[in-house]
Amino acid sequence: MGEGRSPQERAPGARRLVLLGAPNSGKGTQAAVVAERLGVPAISTGDMLRGAVAAGSELGRRVKGVMDAGGLVDDALMAEVVADRLRQPDARRGFLLDGYPRTLRQAQDCERMLGELGGRLDAVVLLEVPEEALMKRALGRGRADDRAEVVRERLRVYREATEPLVGYYRGRGLLRTVDGDQSIETVTASVLRALEAVRGVA
Ligand code: ADP
Repeated sequence: MGEGRSPQERAPGARRLVLLGAPNSGKGTQAAVVAERLGVPAISTGDMLRGAVAAGSELGRRVKGVMDAGGLVDDALMAEVVADRLRQPDARRGFLLDGYPRTLRQAQDCERMLGELGGRLDAVVLLEVPEEALMKRALGRGRADDRAEVVRERLRVYREATEPLVGYYRGRGLLRTVDGDQSIETVTASVLRALEAVRGVA
């Protein structure tokens, strides 16, 4: 670890990125646009799991309950799902992860998986949005009253399980912070600008 990066890791154009942000921070929207601009696949674990639920697959049946309650799917199961996806040929030139990692354990799993594939993360972009704006976006979108409870639960889980990743990645020199409380276009531009500073990206 640390010193000797393999030549493969230094390959120009390597773009292994993570987009981090609270529920309703606009992560999914930005992941799609930014990934397209960078020419890498956006890998959204939320979309993958929702797809599995919709398809009624074994995975879908295993995750539906915890997703509906605003909880987190088991780390080991997520590691399987993500490792499979990262092994697909389209992820070889890079990827933008949206929704993974979400716990410190997942961050470690992610590091290990990428190590096995002969790489490591290039950058982690944090979309910062104030709590009031997050709640407003969430409730503006939903309908039923009991949604507010799930929204609050998602936010609580984010603060508790996911926010520690900010310090984790800052400590590794990977974190780039972007103000997510702006128009979609402005946020996209800010993310791309933040990534310009990262060697090999954008
Ligand atoms: P958001 O609505 O915050 O954008 P996502 O679409 O990323 O959420 O994910 C929806 C749900 O899928 C999460 O609330 C969680 O139950 C599950 N999920 C997605 N990614 C992960 C993960 N990395 N670890 C555990 N659970 C996950």
